[in-house]
Amino acid sequence: MSGLTRRKFLGAAAAVAAASSCVTVSPFAIGGARKKVVVVGGGIGGATAARYLRMMDASIQVTLIEANKDYYTCFMSNEVLVGERTMDSIRFGYGGLREQGVGIVHDRVVGIDTDRRMVRTRGGQRFSYDRCILSPGVDFRWDSIDGYDAGVAQKIPHAWKAGEQTLILRRQLKAMPDGGTVLIVPPPNPYRCPPAPYERASQIAHYLKTRKPRSKILILDPKDSFSMHDLFTDAWKRHYGYGTDNSLISWISGAEGGRVEALDVKAMQVQALVEDFTADVINIIPAQKAGSIAFDTGLTNDKGWCPVDGGSFESLLHENIHVIGDACVAEPLPKSGYVANSDAKVCAAAIVAAFNHGKAPQPSWINSCYSIVAPGDVFSAVMVYGYKDGKIVKAKGAGGLTPRAFDADMRAREEQYAYSWFRNITADVFGLPAGI
Ligand code: FAD
Repeated sequence: MSGLTRRKFLGAAAAVAAASSCVTVSPFAIGGARKKVVVVGGGIGGATAARYLRMMDASIQVTLIEANKDYYTCFMSNEVLVGERTMDSIRFGYGGLREQGVGIVHDRVVGIDTDRRMVRTRGGQRFSYDRCILSPGVDFRWDSIDGYDAGVAQKIPHAWKAGEQTLILRRQLKAMPDGGTVLIVPPPNPYRCPPAPYERASQIAHYLKTRKPRSKILILDPKDSFSMHDLFTDAWKRHYGYGTDNSLISWISGAEGGRVEALDVKAMQVQALVEDFTADVINIIPAQKAGSIAFDTGLTNDKGWCPVDGGSFESLLHENIHVIGDACVAEPLPKSGYVANSDAKVCAAAIVAAFNHGKAPQPSWINSCYSIVAPGDVFSAVMVYGYKDGKIVKAKGAGGLTPRAFDADMRAREEQYAYSWFRNITADVFGLPAGI
């Protein structure tokens, strides 16, 4: 490698990879014993980390352990609920990662011995590691609403992990008679994808307006406001009569008694702070915490999330384990797929640098979140983040929201960007031909 030292090249390559979702870095091998990284969880964060580790340093032996054979993206799953797209269009396999030399194991991790650096699976396999990356996503606080638990969720779906849950809610919406009520219970903060419950309400509203126009949606919220509140309520006024006597959508805030305390499944009734409500379809999205393997490994704080060093995502509680994606606390980053994808690149670059006694490159993150509220009416929030004095900070002058004033051309363009973002991020995560 003439003129450019290996370490400098590594730093430059990693910094570029961290900043862009579409870049390809030439692999190269580094002498000495092969380092081993075990990645737990092959969702957005885990699959990206595994792939980028191999791209940044092909000498690393990367093993990705994922419980399921296929991954269903949560993003665009709201469209599946209302029949606008198929389940197959949000399903992704691991062939692309395999082709890039990632060892794929379909099994559930049931224990991590942090002293011996050993990962154990339900199927009885053991994997030693130099570094382990966890991206297990979220689990639910089943004790937060009386009468709601994992068993009941088969009948009253959360649909907050895409797959079977998405199909249950889709079937219920389809079977509901015209004139029925859909009740949506969003979670308290913090949770996976802050705008998504309200995007879901918007898309279900569009479905009802066009197929079952006498039906209603009631949102019972523990919060007093929510992500992109004004953009959503403007859209609801524009499309669904929000604020009128005949509104398709009603939203009751926490201050107005929207907090749901108990569920009676037989009666299809929820008990909120001041009143009981019955509905034909109930979608409860429970309060959330880090995926259970993070608890079992002792990686969580008293709030149920994993504290990490923002420059490397190494756990502050155990050495040589990194936690990325929804499970970690990395404020001000939101819990989103785009952030999990950026975390993974920052983390992979830091691990490659550590293996090579180098300095981790300057991290950066991108988040953009598109909300599809009706066909041709889409808005987004975008933010770029940097790292300063050991803290993740919003980059000054970068990012922003779609303007509140409605511009049909701009909203239609945002719709195209949303679909192109979906194609590109899934290509980047799962190693597929570029999307566009
Ligand atoms: P996940 O993607 O959930 O991956 C976790 C993986 O770990 C899973 O595959 C799971 O099977 C596996 N796993 C867990 N425990 C184990 C174990 N013990 N052993 C083996 N495997 C294990 N984000 C956006 O950026 N844009 C959007 O438009 C957007 N829309 C959304 C819409 C909805 C309705 C929802 C619910 C979410 C949306 N998100 C969006 C958020 C995004 O889906 C998550 O933030 C993202 O998936 C987080 O990635 P992760 O790697 O942390 O977790």
